[in-house]
Amino acid sequence: MTETEVDPRTELADLSLALRAAVRRRRRGGARRVAPVRLEALAAAAPPPPAVGGKPTPLPPERPAPPGTPDPPGPPVTPDRPGDPAGPKPGPPGPGAPPTAEVARAAGSLEELRAAVAECRACALCESRTRTVFMDGEGTRPVLFVGEAPGFHEDQQGVPFVGKAGELLTDIIQKGMGLARSEVSIANVLKCRPPENRDPSPAEKALCTPFLDRQIELLDPKVIIPLGRHAANHVLGTDEPMGRLRGRVHSLGGRSVVPTFHPAYLLRTPSAKRDCWADIQLAMAELGLPKPSRETR
Ligand code: URA
Repeated sequence: MTETEVDPRTELADLSLALRAAVRRRRRGGARRVAPVRLEALAAAAPPPPAVGGKPTPLPPERPAPPGTPDPPGPPVTPDRPGDPAGPKPGPPGPGAPPTAEVARAAGSLEELRAAVAECRACALCESRTRTVFMDGEGTRPVLFVGEAPGFHEDQQGVPFVGKAGELLTDIIQKGMGLARSEVSIANVLKCRPPENRDPSPAEKALCTPFLDRQIELLDPKVIIPLGRHAANHVLGTDEPMGRLRGRVHSLGGRSVVPTFHPAYLLRTPSAKRDCWADIQLAMAELGLPKPSRETR
C-alpha cells in the first residue's frame, strides 16, 4: 500500500467511531442532525474479500426471485381445527439436522411422526414456514390422498388442502365419493410450504419423502390417490407424466394406487374433471364403495 492510499479497514473503523459519536450526541438530546451513513460508503470501506490465487473472489450473481402468483383469498381460518402448531425456530437448517430417514423410521406412531416433522430443520423451507402441515382426517376409511406441498392457507393453518384446491378436493370426497372429509386421510409430499408456491425441488423431495413413506407405513391405507405428478412420481417411483399414469389401478406392495390430476390443475382445466371422475370411480371400486346413482361433477 502506498502512503497516499488509505487502508479500508482504518476507514471503516473511522466511520464506525463517527457513527457511534453521532448516536451518543443524539441520545444526549443534541439537536444536531446526524448525517446518514450510506451503506455504499460502508461497503466501499470494508476490507476486501479474501483473495484466492492473488485475485479477489467474485461475489455470486444475484438470483432472481422465483415467479409466483398471489394466492387467492381462501376460506376463513378455523381455529378449532387440529392443525400443526407454529413452532420455534432454533438453529440454522441444513447438514447439522439429523437425517430425515432415520428420524422418520424412529417414529413409532403417527403422533410421534407428526412431532418429528414439526421439529424438522433438514432444509431451508423450515426458515420460511409458518407451520408444518402433516395431515388431515381421522383415517377411518383406508384411503390416503397425497398432494404436492402446502400453499399459503395450509401454511397458515397447519392443515392440508384448505384453500381453493382444497375446496374442490372436499367436493370430490363428499359429493363424488359420498364420504365425509374427516373419514379419509390427506397428506402431502412436502410438509412445508415452498415460497411463492413453486414446485418442490428434487433436494426438498429427497429430504422430505421419508416422512411420507413412514406416514404411509403407519396409516397402512388400502388405496392411495396421488394428486398430480409430484405425488404420483414419488409414490410409484417413476418419472412418467401423469397422462401415462392415470386412468388405471397400479398394484404396489399390496396397495392400490390410483393417480389422478391435482385439484389445482382441475381448477385451471375444468375439461379434465371428467377424467378425474373416472379415476375416482376406479378408486371407489377398490374401496368397495357403492357407485353413485347420479354422477356428480
Ligand atoms: N396443494 C397441495 O398439493 N397440497 C395442499 O395441501 C394444498 C394445495
